[in-house]
Amino acid sequence: MSTHSTSTARGPPGEKKDLTQSFILPKEYDPSTEEPKWQKRWEDGGIYSFDAENNVRPTYSIDTPPPYPSGEFHVGNALNHCYFDFVARYKRMRGYNVHFPQGWDCHGLPTEVNAEKTFKVKKNDLPPAQFVELCRKLTEETIARMKETVIRLGISTDWRLEYRTMDPAYYKLTQLSFLRLYDAGYIYRGEHPVNWCPRCETAIAEAEVEHQDRQGALHYLRFGNIDSPLEIATTRPELLAACVAVAVHPEDSRYNQRVGQKTEVPLFGRKIPIIADEEVDPTFGTGAVMVCTFGDKLDVKWQNKYKLPLIRAITENGRLTGEAGPFKGLKTEEARKQIVEKLTNDKRIYKTEPLAQSIGVCWRCKTPVEIISRPQWFMKTRDMTEAVIQWADKLRWVPSFAKQRLVDWANSLDWDWVISRQRVFATPIPLWYCKKCENIILAKETDLPVDPRRENPSTTKCPRCGSNELRGETDVLDTWMDSSISAAVHAGWPDNPDRFKRLFPADLQPNGLDIVRTWDYYLLVRSLALFGQAPYKTLLINGMVRGTDGRMMHKSYGNYVEGREPLQKFGADAFRQWAAAGGSTGYDTPFRWTEVEHGKKFLTKLWNVARFILANLPSDLPKADQTSLTVIDKWLLSSLQKMVQEVTEAFENFQFNLATEAIRDFTWHSLADNYLEAAKYRLQPGTDKTSQEAAQHCLHQSLLTICKLIAPVCPHVSESIYQQLSKEDGTKSVHLSQWPDPNPELLKPEWVGQGQLVIDTIASGRRKKAEKGLALKAPLKALAVQASKESLGVLRENQEPILRTLKAEALQLTENDTGPPGQAEVVRVEVVA
Ligand SMILES: [Zn+2]
Ligand SMILES: [Zn+2]
Repeated sequence: MSTHSTSTARGPPGEKKDLTQSFILPKEYDPSTEEPKWQKRWEDGGIYSFDAENNVRPTYSIDTPPPYPSGEFHVGNALNHCYFDFVARYKRMRGYNVHFPQGWDCHGLPTEVNAEKTFKVKKNDLPPAQFVELCRKLTEETIARMKETVIRLGISTDWRLEYRTMDPAYYKLTQLSFLRLYDAGYIYRGEHPVNWCPRCETAIAEAEVEHQDRQGALHYLRFGNIDSPLEIATTRPELLAACVAVAVHPEDSRYNQRVGQKTEVPLFGRKIPIIADEEVDPTFGTGAVMVCTFGDKLDVKWQNKYKLPLIRAITENGRLTGEAGPFKGLKTEEARKQIVEKLTNDKRIYKTEPLAQSIGVCWRCKTPVEIISRPQWFMKTRDMTEAVIQWADKLRWVPSFAKQRLVDWANSLDWDWVISRQRVFATPIPLWYCKKCENIILAKETDLPVDPRRENPSTTKCPRCGSNELRGETDVLDTWMDSSISAAVHAGWPDNPDRFKRLFPADLQPNGLDIVRTWDYYLLVRSLALFGQAPYKTLLINGMVRGTDGRMMHKSYGNYVEGREPLQKFGADAFRQWAAAGGSTGYDTPFRWTEVEHGKKFLTKLWNVARFILANLPSDLPKADQTSLTVIDKWLLSSLQKMVQEVTEAFENFQFNLATEAIRDFTWHSLADNYLEAAKYRLQPGTDKTSQEAAQHCLHQSLLTICKLIAPVCPHVSESIYQQLSKEDGTKSVHLSQWPDPNPELLKPEWVGQGQLVIDTIASGRRKKAEKGLALKAPLKALAVQASKESLGVLRENQEPILRTLKAEALQLTENDTGPPGQAEVVRVEVVA
């Protein structure tokens, strides 16, 4: 293969586009120079800019989930981004005006926990404004690091649309959405028990509770009179101070005569009722259970159902309250130990056995959650379950099974969504309370954004009682309240109704299977409440990336791979091929280094093929008409069209693995192994001009089409090659070029069949030569081929490529009646003496 010389630059001089500075492909494809080069030129050339003024091209809007700026960007996050980008690039080439922003979901626990750790402070040790500053600082740093990886991955984000949920312009809209939903009756303040993380000291939503399997202990306790006790079993004796009843099953004959009587709580001496309820499992423990306010969700239900008293035994930072008498101030774990010891000494505990438990923990810090009741803000989501399920049916889900995740989740919710948080770095809740009459004074829409923690309302008096003593709300909003309006914010809500019409709902909502129950759910309920429709049309759900050992990826397992690593080792285009081809859309896939390496090998192959082709194309590309095409030219062009059809269909269905495999297979086998080998002799000087031009036309068409088809997956290498090819339309980037449509004139099955016969015969001859220990170049006197009757004619008419490729002087054809039709086999080679 010769190096492609500068003199073969195509197109008249002066037609060089901004992006085209070098006309030579280096000998080797080096991602570390090629990739950053194009990333910079794309950015400088503004080729991913959404054209807001353009009303002609149809828009395609992608609402991507803004990641938490945690600083970590593992290969799973990278896979997510690749999915967004495959679609964005494909749609752009299909002529859409693509709206592809990148946001950052800044607020919430992750950043606070991180700031506390990094700066070695506790949020309560500093004035809120100062703590917020630390959080902002940290957030900016982590965003910068993550952004670098996103760019390095070759993601075609329109950075002019970048947003941060902590920016006043953004959280102003979060506050506005709160006010609008409050007015519409969707938001209320109430005292209801909620999940609580004692480490983070805040309410958390059901979606933020994770379940972990742990080994616990089941203690058997005697209640009441020690001589005729009521025996109950519990895993949480530290909640005895909050025990308000004992519950048994109504049909449990061991206990039903005692229902309605009272018994006494050990250590605390309180008399409590014995109640009967269907939901008690008589086979668990002794069949009698403590009802505590609150051990679990069932306690919450029973407390409400039987109007039991509410005893607060646990503080917001996870310690026992004064209700626990001598145990006051102890952390729950320590209190459990001491109470078990005391009860054992008192002969109140008579048995303890191990118990495998699934307990709820805070998704962020893994601390076991408590259930704590205090006034909170809620969004009425339980009433929306039916609407959520109806809408889920109207949307396109890729893959379709992901829909069930949302439906099951909506059906499983027992409580309304608690939207207030007792944290600092978050969107302030825009309201004040009258200190005298507890009236709620909402911020005016025109005053937003506001921070009631340090600002006063524009109204100075309580409109109800006239008092001028007001206090600002100190609770803040759940971070999902910010991110769940992203689609509306991108679309210019509320000030730009024209833009909103064009961009809302978003065409695509791509995200991981793990956040269907949060992201997709919250977006849907908020949008239904605010706009009466779903915020997206299609949901593209990717599976989880598992570690190299197949387990969930986790730092402590040693199977964690940082997103930057494969990019540094093999480049973005190799990594992106793994993201596309590593698994089917929606299914979990392990991270495999071998597949990234395989991706790199493909790039090397493509590069070498491109260099060879470019070196053999003239500066003025000839137009080939169909009459000059040989049988293998027709085979190649027809196979190419079939591949275009397959790849297009795969992209339309978000099956990136099928698209990538089809392109790689065509390039590697049809083009490189077969066609190139069989057409090489036609490129030699002195060959018949018509035949040469036909081969050049086929090579050019194939390479140009491959560049376009692989551009969404391998944006860099395709650009490097595309810039060297003569183009019909002078487009400045492959990413702005038009996606190829299959040409029906070239899609002829008979073309494929005949050419395939010739190609197979050549392949068979090569094998035969190899078997005989002959070099491919070794000249042959004759080549004996057996073929079915109908194949003989085709081979006779097309013997030139067979003879020239295999360096044979003559073809000896014999009919094979036993072989399958349409097949041929080289049975003998005769070496030149
Ligand atoms: Zn926590
Ligand atoms: Zn008042």
